[in-house]
Amino acid sequence: MIEFRDLKRQYLYLKKNIDDKINDVIQSASFIGGKQVNILEQTLANYVDVKHCISCANGTDALELALMVWNIGFGDAVFVPDFTFFSTGEVVAAVGATPIFVDVRPDTFNMDTVSLEGLIRMVKTQGKLKPRAIIAVDLFGQPAEYDKIKQIATRNNLYLLEDCAQGFGGSIDKRKACSFGDISTTSFFPAKPLGCYGDGGAIFTNSDEWAKKLTSLKVHGKGLNKYDNVYIGMNSRLDSIQAAILNAKFPVFINEEMNKVQLIARTYTSLLNNYVKTPLILDGFNSSWAQYSIQLESNEERDRLQSYLKEQGIPSMVYYQKPMHCQKAFGESVFKYDELNMTTNRLCSTILSLPFHPYLNSDEIEFVCDRVKEFFQRK
Ligand SMILES: *Cc1c(COP(=O)(O)O)cnc(C)c1O
Repeated sequence: MIEFRDLKRQYLYLKKNIDDKINDVIQSASFIGGKQVNILEQTLANYVDVKHCISCANGTDALELALMVWNIGFGDAVFVPDFTFFSTGEVVAAVGATPIFVDVRPDTFNMDTVSLEGLIRMVKTQGKLKPRAIIAVDLFGQPAEYDKIKQIATRNNLYLLEDCAQGFGGSIDKRKACSFGDISTTSFFPAKPLGCYGDGGAIFTNSDEWAKKLTSLKVHGKGLNKYDNVYIGMNSRLDSIQAAILNAKFPVFINEEMNKVQLIARTYTSLLNNYVKTPLILDGFNSSWAQYSIQLESNEERDRLQSYLKEQGIPSMVYYQKPMHCQKAFGESVFKYDELNMTTNRLCSTILSLPFHPYLNSDEIEFVCDRVKEFFQRK
């Protein structure tokens, strides 16, 4: 049975270590904060080579906390990819600011810097909103083009927030994902590249001042302690059991899983690239392969392939069905994105993500690819 993302197989492989670590936490009766959380924050900060790692309750809170640190709110514009998970835009609206939806590249699925610059100019010309920040997403595991995006951010005096919820473990040359933003965030939702057994998240920054404020905001804006409150914050802490699970998984994630996924992605691409459009990884970039996504010629072809795979017992997913600018929650869009964001519109109707995880074996990969080939040969 092929799973879209096989967390059970991973657990069976890591069982002893995970069970032991969970037991330790229960024995210690320290459930919030404590040793396991401190170890995790240290380990992750070291790995991505950023001064501070602040754990929190999930990847959405992590993004919102970053916007809170920068006092982003009403009247501010934040540039967000149109093609991403809802959270990336949701947090902007949640703090009262306006998300401006940027188109993406058709080959990497990441923020298109030409569209970004165009929209920054538009917002400035209109003069209604104040451009404050860019949230770049490392979609499906590949880092966005940070060299270019950073330059645009600097030139326009904008903060850069890296939404690395899907990208932890990726890199550009020797630089690790989660180190590219002024603040970077990730998620430990179970299906993410590094997942725990519930919700979890983390925030990374080199700024001592922001790290201090984040540590306060995530615990009710605490001052001297939890009962002395200097900001309106939130309750967003990582459980000790989740930290312990992540500590158990981390060495295997780095030493084994990240290598395995590179191999699996290469195999998929070599077996499929005569039939469908396979994902492009830019030179010097490394993806953590949160998803392996192919593109079909049309919406009709995509939906037929998905049904065919389902008949053969192969799960697949559509990430994402709807451009952000079409989500009802955001209300009337400021700009006519439907005419602007052509790539996002097309991707939503032609993209398909195949089963992908480090524990897929070569028989399973071959089975999936054979069924895709069969679909095209049957036509
Ligand atoms: C999963 C995800 C988030 C949110 O993470 P949660 O831990 O589920 O809150 C944010 N951004 C992107 C791109 C994601 O994929």
